[in-house]
Amino acid sequence: MWTCVIDKLDLLAGLAPAELERLREISTLFMQRKQFFGIYEMEISNEVRVAIAAQACLLILNRTASHETHPYPGWSSIILYPGPFVTRHNFRDAIGVVHEQIAALEGETSRSGPIVLSWEDARRSATAPGEGRNVVLHEFAHKLDFMNGVSNGFPPLPAGMSVEDWSRSFTHAFEHLRHRVDHHHPTPFNSYAATNPAEFFAVMTEAFFQIPHHLREIYPHVYEQLQRYYKQDPIQRRPPVVIFDGAFFMSHDEKHRAHRVGWLRAAVLGANDGIVSTASLIIGVAAAGTTQENILLAGVAGLVAGAMSMAAGEYVSVSSQSDTENADLALERKSLEQNPMFEKKELAKIYEERGVEPELAIQVAHQLMRHDALGAHARDEIGISPNGAAQPVQAAFSSAGTFTVGAALPLCVAWVMPAASQILAIAISSLFFLALLGVIAARAGGAPMITGAVRVTFWGALAMALTAGVGQLFGVVS
Ligand SMILES: [Zn+2]
Repeated sequence: MWTCVIDKLDLLAGLAPAELERLREISTLFMQRKQFFGIYEMEISNEVRVAIAAQACLLILNRTASHETHPYPGWSSIILYPGPFVTRHNFRDAIGVVHEQIAALEGETSRSGPIVLSWEDARRSATAPGEGRNVVLHEFAHKLDFMNGVSNGFPPLPAGMSVEDWSRSFTHAFEHLRHRVDHHHPTPFNSYAATNPAEFFAVMTEAFFQIPHHLREIYPHVYEQLQRYYKQDPIQRRPPVVIFDGAFFMSHDEKHRAHRVGWLRAAVLGANDGIVSTASLIIGVAAAGTTQENILLAGVAGLVAGAMSMAAGEYVSVSSQSDTENADLALERKSLEQNPMFEKKELAKIYEERGVEPELAIQVAHQLMRHDALGAHARDEIGISPNGAAQPVQAAFSSAGTFTVGAALPLCVAWVMPAASQILAIAISSLFFLALLGVIAARAGGAPMITGAVRVTFWGALAMALTAGVGQLFGVVS
């Protein structure tokens, strides 16, 4: 029975005969001491018992003294669901309101409560090491963490291990992962690990046993600490596994990075705004039946106000963009210092996705990083150039300038045309200019020209019709 189950567990492959014998002894004790309960149609067979016990006891294989008779003391039961189970938790938010949260879980535990597991997930993770996940190891790592009373990613350390080294290595790696999650970067491990230090320790334990090569490459100090903590070196017994990218690189989107609008497009947009708002304003005032002088005065006031508001808006938006870029660059710089290997792989992956051969991609990444590591990452990962960073003042001026040019067009028409044909002349000339700009913008952006022209002309016409309506309304009333 024992051998039959053990042979199916990839996780235990490579253990020496003596180690397997000890694992069997500890597991037998474990099965004597713990009670297993099945929920719904979950049947607790011997096979299930052995599979859970062997994985749980792998964690304490070299940490259990021969005289100990109770592996994992202080609690007694293991509850198994056939699949993921639903829990309801109440939690109180910052302002004191209690919420009920419903979640489907693969595993759950507390300090002296039972370990609850989904058998479906427990079985899958034991035979698919490439996913790097193992819910049994995860929950039992929490139990080890709880052994000093709280679960905080800081279990009681064996004699000879340094508290400072542990704390430094784990904090470092945890911060790295959390920053990547916060900034929507792809993560080298399940991003759930960034939840808190306790989850980080549990996920790192999974990785240590399931994908040791990957862990040692990404967080070598964490690997070393776990090696001393578990008194095992899984790299020695496990071949490197191919990692399913989808299992870790959870967030492939980098959508928080707004691509900067090309200068021509920005100029056309500014001019469009100038034409539409000033033409609408003039038409509105003219429709109310005021004098030529008042019409021009309103037009000039609209031009100045619009240009100022464009400049201010542009200044704020470009400043905050440049703050974001600086923050991203600082983060990237830190990450490069701390995890150069990971950063190199990440960069190579980006080139690979663009069609470069994998081996060449890593070479390209290597050489670019030797030349200018931050520059290469800023350009190809974040999508910004560290030298040509956003310039708020310049953006504000150009935005105000293009708006003014746009606004000047209907204003000139209003100035030269007699009052009788003013509204029609402004409307027609403005729509013509808008269509012209639409064509230019579409050309620059490679979009179909007619569509661009029609779209912008339609909205311009609508704006003018509306203000004319308003002007007429008020003109009649007053
Ligand atoms: Zn957990």
